[in-house]
Amino acid sequence: MAETRFDYDLFTIGAGSGGTRAARMAAAAGARVAVAEERYLGGTCVNVGCVPKKLMVYASHFADEFADARGFGWQSERPTFDWRTLIANKNAEIERLNGVYRRLIEGAGATIYDARAVVIDPHTIEVDGETVTAERILVATGSWPVVPDGPGTEHVVTSNEMFFLDELPRRFLAVGGGYISVEFAGIMRGLGAEVTLVHRGEPFLRGFDHDLRENLAVEMRRRGVDLRFNSLVERFERNADGSLRATITDGTHVDVDVALCAIGRNPNTKNLGLEQAGVKLAPNGAVVVNDALQSSVPSIYALGDVIDRAPLTPVAIAEAMVFVDNVYRGADRRMDYSVLPTAVFSQPPLASVGLTEEQARDAHDIDVYRAQFRAMKNTLGGREERTLLKLIVDKRSDRVLGCHMLGPDAAEIIQSLGVALAAGATKADFDRTIALHPSTAEEFVTMRTPVGA
Ligand code: NDP
Repeated sequence: MAETRFDYDLFTIGAGSGGTRAARMAAAAGARVAVAEERYLGGTCVNVGCVPKKLMVYASHFADEFADARGFGWQSERPTFDWRTLIANKNAEIERLNGVYRRLIEGAGATIYDARAVVIDPHTIEVDGETVTAERILVATGSWPVVPDGPGTEHVVTSNEMFFLDELPRRFLAVGGGYISVEFAGIMRGLGAEVTLVHRGEPFLRGFDHDLRENLAVEMRRRGVDLRFNSLVERFERNADGSLRATITDGTHVDVDVALCAIGRNPNTKNLGLEQAGVKLAPNGAVVVNDALQSSVPSIYALGDVIDRAPLTPVAIAEAMVFVDNVYRGADRRMDYSVLPTAVFSQPPLASVGLTEEQARDAHDIDVYRAQFRAMKNTLGGREERTLLKLIVDKRSDRVLGCHMLGPDAAEIIQSLGVALAAGATKADFDRTIALHPSTAEEFVTMRTPVGA
């Protein structure tokens, strides 16, 4: 398949989730592949995202388990927490995963350049002082946290630094109302910090079902997180004792040890040589691609966070499979973004697949089924927290359009319901499914009366 006048058939820039999958699969399909990675194999997800975040969520959850255990008869003292042990163990696990990624890529027969690559022209890349050519170039460089402007913002950290703090902050501020701010607020609160979250809107997590957003705010406040909605931080200043003072537009200030700014991520295309090579970029730097993930330069493709469609690891991986199937396996596939399960690993977690109630109302005549209850474990555990489950159903076709959950194991449960939605399940299909008792998820198949009926 190779045009041998090129050094490689495919040169992938970025070995994150999408770039690695594309490189491995293209190589396995017989292409001559190289991958350049300037930072860390596995990209954001493995190094400063999903994986270490989830490990920290687990760490923080033990606090609940220790507290609730007493109601079940466990009498031990509450153990103390050592941040450095967590970070050291997390780092060792990430290093192991970096090694796994290297073996996967090399094992598939692709060459790794541990260096930054820059595009010179539609078939030429400069990497590690060498000029190499490729029939196709794949840009999979991901995204990078937006660092805000404003007085004192040099004192704040982004999610990149959160994974390597020297100490657990005693007081923590999260700015932003997206996944990252909400997840770190939960992690830090669980680990014992005093936590404030400042968000410009109300409530947070725009794009999720309003019920989940509002009820998560209730539960986070119940856990002691100080949520400041409709607010911005005006300025940050360093106090004499080394702590940070954040002055908030509601007229108050908070003194904290660490302030995280998580107000979104921008596609990573700066100084990559893409514009000079003729690649069209969106105003935020995203590579503009067609349905086949091809940029305005036909030999240059892009996928994952850098195209800014749905900046999630599994989406980047699915896009990589579409790219490889089309280019190296003779398929003619397009990405289907319609059934996209997603979770926020907040405490409690929330997860969704399909349309929110608001989205569904715009296009369909719908029934909404809703169950809210105190989970069985919370009875003896003594926890007031309430779980919320919701189904959005199209009245005309009976198709289930959306499933939403706030509560323990939401991500695990919604992932499975994603299969039902992908298969086009109707409410009647849910109804004829026998419940698995006692479980939380059984409520999804036992809701019989729509809200307001
Ligand atoms: P998000 O895009 O999720 O959220 C950004 C938040 O910052 C929004 O609440 C937004 O408010 C607010 N914001 C934007 N600009 C400003 C500003 N100038 N001043 C104040 N607030 C502002 O970004 P994150 O950084 O949280 O995460 C980036 C991406 O990473 C996510 O979109 C997600 O795709 C991915 N991610 C996924 C995770 C998962 O799957 N569990 C976990 C972590 C990250 P508004 O709503 O008003 O626009």
